[in-house]
Amino acid sequence: MHNANIKNIVVVGGGTAGWMTATALATVLQGQYRIHVVESDEIGIVGVGEATIPMIQRFNQVVGIDENEFLRETQGSFKLAIEFVNWGKPGDRYMHGFGTIGQDLGTVRFDQYWQKMRKLGKADELAAYSITRMAARANKFMPARHDVPNSPLNQIAHAYHFDASLYARYLRKIAESRGVVRTEGKIVSVSQHEADGFVDAVTLENDQRISGDLFIDCSGFRGLLIEQTLQTGYEDWSHWLPCDRAQAVPCESAAEFLPYTRATAHRAGWQWRIPLQHRTGNGHVYCSKYVSDDEAASVLLANLDGKPLADPRVIRFKTGMRNKAWNKNVVAIGLAGGFLEPLESTSIHLIQSAIARLIDFFPNQGFNAVDIAEYNRQSRLEYERIRDFVILHYKLNQREDSDFWKDCASMQVPDSLQHKIDLFRASGRLLRIDNELFAEVGWLQVFEGQNLVPENTNPLVDLQTEADTIDYLESVREVVQKCVAIMPDHAAYIAQYCAAR
Ligand code: FAD
Repeated sequence: MHNANIKNIVVVGGGTAGWMTATALATVLQGQYRIHVVESDEIGIVGVGEATIPMIQRFNQVVGIDENEFLRETQGSFKLAIEFVNWGKPGDRYMHGFGTIGQDLGTVRFDQYWQKMRKLGKADELAAYSITRMAARANKFMPARHDVPNSPLNQIAHAYHFDASLYARYLRKIAESRGVVRTEGKIVSVSQHEADGFVDAVTLENDQRISGDLFIDCSGFRGLLIEQTLQTGYEDWSHWLPCDRAQAVPCESAAEFLPYTRATAHRAGWQWRIPLQHRTGNGHVYCSKYVSDDEAASVLLANLDGKPLADPRVIRFKTGMRNKAWNKNVVAIGLAGGFLEPLESTSIHLIQSAIARLIDFFPNQGFNAVDIAEYNRQSRLEYERIRDFVILHYKLNQREDSDFWKDCASMQVPDSLQHKIDLFRASGRLLRIDNELFAEVGWLQVFEGQNLVPENTNPLVDLQTEADTIDYLESVREVVQKCVAIMPDHAAYIAQYCAAR
């Protein structure tokens, strides 16, 4: 155990990770520690990362962010789902909607009844039983109504899209108002204690030296402290998640202001579309082994809603995670800690959960090897579970139009994922391991959306007559329809409550 008496926390980096960390620590630690953020205008931030998942609401609650103000300040919009286009086969289209689908009957899940009736041709499409999918499709939005406990209106789960640069600026304002000190400048050297290699201080180009007891490395892909200084090592997952580049470009907004992200598969990757109030964010994620940068840029530009507002910007990455998220007195959060595909918008969530974990294991009494090992074990578990979910989208394709997709379909996936695929294929069983981020209903939507039909269903569904099962499905469908009908338009909701000024 390293008996540091922690007083000074230094956050290296002022992107989404740096400012989320500084804001949360300043809020939760209530001024008991000095928190310093160092960021470089010359280096800047990665500037992508604009789609989230519903757990971000929890972060906002903890730090006391008002939803309407937050969307106004970040030119944001609401997100109810991700639409996947061309993923199973070219021409296919499905959504992964947030929240639940249907209503379970006793101990048997709703989807088991649906699977049985679908095989008999007596059920509607899965989306018809999901309030978020139907609302997204109808371009509607409202937050969950917790005053109507048994209604699908109570089950609406939402997240946000926002402008990443405005988000960092917004969080900075909150963090500084809570005592966080910011220094602008480029770090050119890092010094370590001779005895144990713990980081002691960072020095800027102008010779300013900032020392600390605990360092949070939020320096992005470069991993200034965790890798360049401590050489922690990186576990490469590109054999499972082979995309290694993205090109991003904003464009003018389209007329329709959709409350969902779209992910459209192309010949060797996919393209995101993120609707914001002042623009639409777009990016083409691709594998450089199968497609050139020039071709990737042309595909991106050919699939925009409106006029591009800049030239495409290339971002290179390697999917995987740091061997240890916490090494000595450095905790890597954000891209410094690892990167999965942006396909399911999980990176900002990983930042948020790393912060929550750091607060749980906060080393106020010094650095304890057992705590650090447990922090690292939990981080790894979380990354691996999300990794499997993202790989599933690639593995479960039936595209014949390129070597990229054929190679993805034939790749050997992690045993943990293969087990889930086998279970679903045999009986429609869905397994949630270790309270992983994506619940059964998330896995269901990808399996179903990408055409994996289970061979059997749970035998308990046969205890109910066919007529009763049809009535049950129909009643769920009707209630969803009625609820969507009373929801306001997404654009109207934004205009009324959270339009940027
Ligand atoms: P950065 O934004 O790169 O910030 C690094 C900071 O470190 C900067 O402030 C920089 O100035 C500072 N810095 C670095 N070196 C030095 C130095 N020497 N001296 C001083 N300062 C320094 N996530 C999602 O949740 N949803 C998405 O839709 C999504 N899409 C993505 C798409 C792509 C193509 C990529 C690559 C990522 C995406 N992400 C997404 C991830 C998301 O962008 C990041 O998790 C998030 O932006 C956090 O980045 P960061 O703060 O770790 O790094």
